[in-house]
Amino acid sequence: MADARESVVTTGADAFAWEPASCLCGLTGPGRPLFAVPHDDAPGGRTFVVQCDCGLRRLDPRPTATTVARYYAEASGYHAYTGRLRSPLKQALWNALRDSEAAPAVRPLWVRLASPLLRPLARWQFDVNVRLNGRGLRVLDVGSGFGDVLMYLQSRGCRTLGIDLSADAAERAREYGIDVRVGTMQSLQLPPGDFDVVIMSHSLEHVPHPADEISAAWRLLAPGGRLLLAVPNGDAVRLRTDGAHWSCLMAPVHFWYFDAASLRSLVERHGFRVDTVRTTTRHYALIEWLKDCRRGYGVAATRSFLRYLAAVPFGPRDGDILRIEATRPS
Ligand SMILES: [Zn+2]
Repeated sequence: MADARESVVTTGADAFAWEPASCLCGLTGPGRPLFAVPHDDAPGGRTFVVQCDCGLRRLDPRPTATTVARYYAEASGYHAYTGRLRSPLKQALWNALRDSEAAPAVRPLWVRLASPLLRPLARWQFDVNVRLNGRGLRVLDVGSGFGDVLMYLQSRGCRTLGIDLSADAAERAREYGIDVRVGTMQSLQLPPGDFDVVIMSHSLEHVPHPADEISAAWRLLAPGGRLLLAVPNGDAVRLRTDGAHWSCLMAPVHFWYFDAASLRSLVERHGFRVDTVRTTTRHYALIEWLKDCRRGYGVAATRSFLRYLAAVPFGPRDGDILRIEATRPS
């Protein structure tokens, strides 16, 4: 297995290059393989979720940075580029939920009145919530896709900018009147200290060098500015119970599975003050079980569902998604 993880496939016109991955902490040991993830292009036909002695889990080996782009097109359920699909009624409810937590200067009276009821729903449903408290903020969304959240924030008086590696996403954003640029925080040469909020919602786990991203976010935030992070939770009970079948695993486009300690440590190393750490279970086990039963995978789905229930999934650290909010101190 060690041999397979160290090899790099470069032969054949259609072969994709994969490479070994080291941990962010600087430890170069092979780490502890937790489970194998079959993949046709991986050396030996499988890759591994590996846990470093520091606790951080990673995919090892993984596609090289130039190879991984091909897998985005193949990843099923990747809706970041397709545009808004909600019905007008659903979109209005979505906006109302966002308004309840964001508290923009202008919002319908009924939302104002219902906010105490809507706010907990918003916190449960949305991985990042930008609190405006009546102000228009300067918001950067890294890995914005077509700019779903930015569209909302722009309509509530914010100055927004998105960054994505997908030209398709940027093109779709333009149709919506949202500025999404193709590139990275490093390549786009944005002015330092120009943002009040940097969002990285489900983007940090995709990049080969997360520390560079946190460092870039620090540079772009004004003192007092906030960093809102959401990633799949490496401590999720369903990673333990479902392994390669965990719905948030998304190998091989996810390279990292941070837990609360490793993500907190990463942002604190860059000078951020961590304000909140939460996890949430967004992939509802019961609904997934029913869907899988309808597709004819009843036995496997029931086994997974029972393992999930047995593992008591509602502990504070066990949810599928990990969210951290941090501040660049003034
Ligand atoms: Zn490590």
